[in-house]
Amino acid sequence: MSVPEIPISQVRIGDGAERLVLEVLRSGHLVQGPMVARLEEAFKEACGTRHAVAVNSGTTAIVAALTALDLGPGDEVITSPFTFAATLNAILEVGATARFVDIDARDYTIDPTALEAAVSERTKAIIPVHLYGQPAAMDDILRIGAKHRVHIVEDAAQALGARVGDRAVGSFGVGCFSLYATKNVTTGEGGVVTTDDDEVADRIRLLRNQGMRARYEYVTPGHNWRLTDLQAAIGIPQMEALASISDARRRNADLLDAGLCDIPGIQVPWRAPGRTHVFHQYTILVHPQTGLSRDELAARLSDEGIATGIYYPRLVHDYECYRDRADVEVDVTPHATRAASQVLSLPVHPGIDADHIERVTQVVRQIVRQ
Ligand SMILES: *Cc1c(COP(=O)(O)O)cnc(C)c1O
Repeated sequence: MSVPEIPISQVRIGDGAERLVLEVLRSGHLVQGPMVARLEEAFKEACGTRHAVAVNSGTTAIVAALTALDLGPGDEVITSPFTFAATLNAILEVGATARFVDIDARDYTIDPTALEAAVSERTKAIIPVHLYGQPAAMDDILRIGAKHRVHIVEDAAQALGARVGDRAVGSFGVGCFSLYATKNVTTGEGGVVTTDDDEVADRIRLLRNQGMRARYEYVTPGHNWRLTDLQAAIGIPQMEALASISDARRRNADLLDAGLCDIPGIQVPWRAPGRTHVFHQYTILVHPQTGLSRDELAARLSDEGIATGIYYPRLVHDYECYRDRADVEVDVTPHATRAASQVLSLPVHPGIDADHIERVTQVVRQIVRQ
């Protein structure tokens, strides 16, 4: 396979990260230490929360959040079926039951009406997924959460820096972020939990370090969920540049919108009023009206050296390993089902410029015209 001319994501590590990583290497202190603390400070600032606790992946962040909230067998967690496997796996890992409700057809995040209809006595938490960098409908979700006294755990893996009004994602309950290589800010692997809840933050700090309060003073059975200073050093300069990273993605999205919005059958991303999208992905819908399937369009773009992504080709629970499980409950989700067959993500990352975008939009136009 040749490398596409225009990739779907690109890791960009600057001089600042190189210097900090070298500093860590020379210090001899490679494990969790002052760099992790600095990264956590940056997350507190970005999210406006009292606490940020770094862990070793976004998946761990969700597991840690659910564990700290005492979720387990018999507890139901409602989420979107249009998400990455980590959301579901984290629910199953703590022994809770996953329940899936439909998404909103326009923003691809959990539909508050479907959510409200599904909440029951057994529901202990809701996990909205801020998909593609667009915040879920948090005003409605907060109202539903408060009314039914259920926890809000945000899967904000794709949405660092996104806001609802003035409020950053990750500040609505317990926020879970990923620092995986393709995410808007990366440390290779890594994750962060953000919260205003002192107790939740304290429990996660304990759990990530074998349940140890002071050296060899174990207060709970724990894990090794620690991030390393080497990893944190990679992320710190990106956190300092977060506003410009998000602006670059939004600018690219604006250019893509302008070049694609009048192509019949191509639906550009919806930007929900009052919510600030950070365009982790720029995702179009390919309607049958184009005369092409989504997969055909993806193949034709690939032939032209333009990489695309399909997030996600199937609903998260639609795999043999999740079928017929008592801890996976599935509602009818027509919007999510349709999205899975029609979404296509185009390159939007800060590694591409206006010329690349011009080429992407021209090629899409040509293919759809033929
Ligand atoms: C990336 C991602 C995760 C998990 O993050 P990892 O760091 O890969 O464990 C969880 N949820 C969503 C929606 C993601 O995109």
